[in-house]
Formats: sequence, structure tokens, C-alpha cells
Amino acid sequence: MNLDGQTALVTGASRGLGRAIARQLAAQGAAVCVNYATRAAEAATLVEEIAAGGGRAIAVAADVGDAAQAEAMVHRVNDDLGPLTILVNNAGLAWRATLETFDVAGMERMRRTNVDGLIHMTRFAARTMRERGYGRIVNLSSIAGHGTALPGNAFYAATKAAVSVLTKRFAMELGPFGVTVNAVAPGFILTDMVKDGRTPEEYDRIVNKMSEISMVGRTGKPGDIANAVAFLAAPESGFITAQVLTVDGGRMDYIGHS
Ligand code: NAP
Repeated sequence: MNLDGQTALVTGASRGLGRAIARQLAAQGAAVCVNYATRAAEAATLVEEIAAGGGRAIAVAADVGDAAQAEAMVHRVNDDLGPLTILVNNAGLAWRATLETFDVAGMERMRRTNVDGLIHMTRFAARTMRERGYGRIVNLSSIAGHGTALPGNAFYAATKAAVSVLTKRFAMELGPFGVTVNAVAPGFILTDMVKDGRTPEEYDRIVNKMSEISMVGRTGKPGDIANAVAFLAAPESGFITAQVLTVDGGRMDYIGHS
């Protein structure tokens, strides 16, 4: 699908899924803002890569959990790339803990990015989109938010359940203004996020286990998610809203029925 003339902002695009999504939207013709929190060099190389391929991109540092920084980033995109038409709320943290190891600061840090960040970005992007009567917002939820059984993910799952319900509520609020809001709920995708905090042995073990409990017999690749996001971000997807699209290779480890 063609995204010529569109302007996209992808939060957390310095690595992992955000990087693959930014690359894909640029390949389809969108001008792209590569947002990052700390990895300036990685964001800069992606901008160079997009420019080398004939596309337009800028890198913008902003902590999405800080309302003022989120707002300033949307202004910068409108000024430098053109009015924002696609927002991908991808930035996220996966802090693993149990009832025994829970601590308020860890939870607060994760919630601030995963939930508050999505709210701030949506509020400010929606102003531009409402004025123009057009917009596509795609949020990164997770199958953890549906109730999968991976140990240590309880609090992360709670933030992602919030992402899924906010997707539906924001879709209802913004639908009358030509703005669709959907989410993609990835399964286990090979990025640094799922490597962080695990030894190489633990990582190998979990990759094998996740492959076995997926119907297609493998873990996901960033491109699997980027394709789904690009589909929902396209002008042709305007009759799809308030949906959470699961992209997990058919995972079979759910806690129970609900
Ligand atoms: P990742 O490799 O850890 O990358 C996270 C990105 O988010 C980085 O670019 C990071 O920026 C950015 N970021 C973190 N906090 C931020 C903040 N406050 N403001 C702006 N940017 C911030 O993660 P990933 O695996 O690509 O995951 C991307 C999204 O998909 C997350 O929302 C995650 O929850 C969701 N997801 C992932 C999986 C999976 O299996 N990988 C599964 C389900 C859902 P810097 O690097 O510059 O600090």
C-alpha cells in the first residue's frame, strides 16, 4: 500500500519493532520521524539509511512519558516533515516482576512509558489529525494483555491490557474526525527487549519454548509486526477501527477462558 505524501511518527524507533516499522513506512513512501529516548546514534543511522534510499526522515529525542516533550515532538514533526497523518505508539518497556519482587518505582517507570506515553502522544497527535479530518493511529499492545501465561509478565500485561482498552476508547472518540485507532498485539518477537535480563541459556530456552507453543512453529520477526502496522496505517484501512490485531503465530499458552 502506498504512503506517498503521508507523515508518520514512530515512537521508540531506535531499535527493535519501532525501527522495523519506521523502515517499512518509509519504504512505502511516508516521511518518518524516528523517535528515541537514549540511542541517538542508532536513530541517526536509520535516518541516514532512509535518506540513502530516497526517503525523508528526522530523528527526534523525546521521552514520551513527559507531556511537554511529547507535545514539542509533534510540533517539530508538523513543522519539519508536514502535518502528521500516522502515529505509531510503539515505545515500551517490559519490566519483569512477581508479587514478591514488585516495587513501586519499577512499575511507575514502565506505566509512565507504556500507558502515559501513549496517552500524551495520542492527545497531541489527535489535535493535528482532527483539524485535517484524517489520521491513522496504531498502538503496540501485546498478547500478554490478552492473558498469556509467561511467568514474570503480570505487571507488564496490565499495562498492555490498558493499551488495548485505550485503543478502543480513543477509536470511539476520534472516529467522527476521520481518525482510526487500532492496535497490534505481538507474540514473542526476537528483539533486544526479549533478550534483556536473560542469560544466553535462558534466552535459548525461551525461544525454543515459544516456538513449540506457536501454531506455526517459530518465534516472530520484527518484519512480521511492521507489515501488520503498515496495513492498519494505510488510507485503504479506513473502515477498520477499534481493533486489536493479534500477530503471534498462533500462541497456545493462555491462562484460561474469559
Ligand atoms: P525494545 O527493543 O526494547 O525497544 C524499545 C524502544 O522504545 C527503544 O527504541 C527505546 O528507545 C524506546 N523507548 C523506551 N522508553 C521510551 C520513552 N519513555 N520515550 C521514547 N522512547 C522510549 O522493544 P521492542 O521489543 O522493539 O518492543 C516495541 C514495542 O512492542 C513495545 O511497546 C513492546 O511492549 C511491544 N511488544 C514487544 C514484543 C516482543 O516480543 N518484542 C511483544 C509484544 C509487544 P531508546 O533505545 O532510544 O532508549
